Parts: sequence; C-alpha cells; structure tokens
Amino acid sequence: MHGALSSLSARTTASGILTIDLAALGRNYAALSTRLAPTIAGAVVKADAYGLGADRVAPVLYAHGCRDFFVAHLDEALALKDVLAGDVRLFVLNGLVPGAEGRCAEANIVPVLNCLDQATRWAQQAAMAGRELPAILQFDTGMSRLGLAESEVRTLTDRPDLLAGVRVLFVMSHLASADEPDNEQNPAQLAAMRRLADRFPRAALCFANSGGIFLGAAYHGALARPGIALYGGAPTAGVANPMTPVVRLDVRVIQIRTVPAGTRVGYGGVHVTSAERRLATIACGYADGFPRHLSDRGAVYCGDVRLPIVGRVSMDSTTVDISALPDGTLAPGSLVEVIGPHQSLESIAADAGTISYEILTRLGPRYHRCYCNHQEPS
Ligand SMILES: *Cc1c(COP(=O)(O)O)cnc(C)c1O
Repeated sequence: MHGALSSLSARTTASGILTIDLAALGRNYAALSTRLAPTIAGAVVKADAYGLGADRVAPVLYAHGCRDFFVAHLDEALALKDVLAGDVRLFVLNGLVPGAEGRCAEANIVPVLNCLDQATRWAQQAAMAGRELPAILQFDTGMSRLGLAESEVRTLTDRPDLLAGVRVLFVMSHLASADEPDNEQNPAQLAAMRRLADRFPRAALCFANSGGIFLGAAYHGALARPGIALYGGAPTAGVANPMTPVVRLDVRVIQIRTVPAGTRVGYGGVHVTSAERRLATIACGYADGFPRHLSDRGAVYCGDVRLPIVGRVSMDSTTVDISALPDGTLAPGSLVEVIGPHQSLESIAADAGTISYEILTRLGPRYHRCYCNHQEPS
C-alpha cells in the first residue's frame, strides 16, 4: 500500500517519467530468436542493460528463453547471479582482469579471454581448481580493440599446453561496422573470423551483434550477442527500424512564460527571440543525460506538435518554444514527449550528434522509472 502510494506520487511529481515496456522487450527477443534460429540468441545486458535496469530486463529475457547473458565487467555478472536462475551462462566481454580469476571461477562465470596473458592465467586457475574451466576466446579481426591478434592465435594453436584445462566454448569476434550493410569491413572481418576459427574446429562461433544479425545467416554463427535491438534501437542505419520501441520518456513542464521579440534565452544569451514567443522550461538537463549538444537544436513534442529547443541546455532544465500550441495546452506539471512515438531514439541521437546507445545508457536516475507491459503501468 505504502509502495503503491509513493509510486503514484512519484508519477505525479517526478521530473520525468521513463516508461520501459517489458512486453516489447520480450517481443524483440522473440523476434530476434526467430530470425536467428537455429542460431541461439544470447543477450547483451552490460551497462545495466543499456541503462534500462539489468535486474528488471534480464529476468524478462530469461522468461522468453534466453540463457546466455553478456556483460562487460565481472561485477555486472556477479550482480546478475542474484536475479537469474542457476541454468544461465554469464559471459564477461571485457576479459579476465588480473586477480579476478578465483572469483570468476568460483562463481561459474565465463570470461572472454582477450590476450595470451588472460588465457595463461585462466589455465593456471583451472590447474589450481583441478577442473576444466569454460571460456570464450576472442579474436581481433579488424577493430583493434579487444581480442587476440592473429599471431597470438597461432601461438595458442601451436602450443595447446597453454590452454590446458580450459574448455573453449566459443570463439568470438566483434564487427566494427555491422550497422552499415554495405561496409566492406563486414565481409573482411567474416573472412578473418573463419580463417582463425578453423584453427579451433571444436569451438562454436559467436559473432553477430544486433547489426550482424541483419547482415544475414553467414554472420550468425552458433550464438549471437544482440544488445541495442532488444531495447528497441535500430540495428541497421538508414532503413526502417524492425524492432518494437521499448522506451518512452516524458518530461515535466516547470514554468511557462511569454517573451517579446529580442529576448535572450538561457546561458550565454546565445538564443535571441525573433518575435514574441511562448516558452516552456522543462525539467531535464545534461545531468539527466539530455545532451548539451541539443542546445538550440532538436525538439520535444506535445502530441504531433514539434516544440523546438531554444537556448542552451542547462544542468537541470531546458527551454522549448511552445508558440505552435494553442494557448493553455500546457501548464506547469504537464508532460512533454522527449522519446516516444513522435521522436525515436535514433532521431534525438542524430540531433545530438550521437547514437541511440549513448542516449539510452545516459538516461538519468532522476526520472521515475515505470516498468510496464504493453504500455500499461504495472
Ligand atoms: C556491446 C556489445 C555487443 C552488443 O552490440 P549491439 O550493437 O548493441 O547489438 C555485442 N558484442 C560485443 C563484444 C559488445 O561489446
């Protein structure tokens, strides 16, 4: 009762309401699974499930059949153990940090081994534990970020003793340009991956992220690692987004005023009104992950009406021009749409000169989070 009441009051007073549609998340996982079959769909839930709350997101994916979860850090994997059943596999993409071997082995977490030193330390851990330990081996096929170079892969296959006691479940690599279907890096990385994977005939392939899934079956391997597409982001640039939106963000109006022509708006006074304008100040700023790059560009929405951002984005607030709305449409306390049916993640990201991933992972803690199914508050 108390919880229900306080959540009700948060809905009416919070600076903004971040609605996360768990049913849409489940539909996206199911759609990717269908597209991938017989390849298995894992799920990337790093960075708190792209900012949406891994403790809420991962169990929904589990309920839809997901058993393979990827995070960036060991601590993220350890936290997931509290919210998932024991029959899952938890993979740590960033690799095996020196000193983490014991904790990783004890918790049955599977490290992605990204260099020879990590492989050696995991083999030592296996010898110490007196049992086989599972791992993924990552190859660098052209991103120069994480993974074994071709020469290191050769060292491992020339000297099998280096991996004694390590069971290589998958060999993996990551595509640098998967969201661009015509980018020549994609087939080049696929060819490099196949060449290196041939050296591990018993290991299955783990290759495609969201974009890779839409490059076709050649990219699928045995286990895929979608992230952004699960959360409703577009897997491919420049084409209609096939995924269902998961996130909606509505932000509170906190003040409304009418100003004459020639009025300066916001820090630096960089915006000067060209005519009489009605302005609304809304309760999101760069401290909420609302990009400062949206200063004097981009917009929010009230129904179908576009409300352009005027002046600089402040830490806790942003001013928008509501002159296009009939008088009285908005009042302090009203909500305007920042992300939703009129403004996709991709479009606000483009206005801010960034990508959907950054918008999602920065959605701030001051918004009231409302987890729902089919847009019905739970
Ligand atoms: C983040 C990440 C993914 C998920 O990528 P999306 O583009 O969000 O699908 C997959 N693999 C690796 C190695 C990653 O770092």
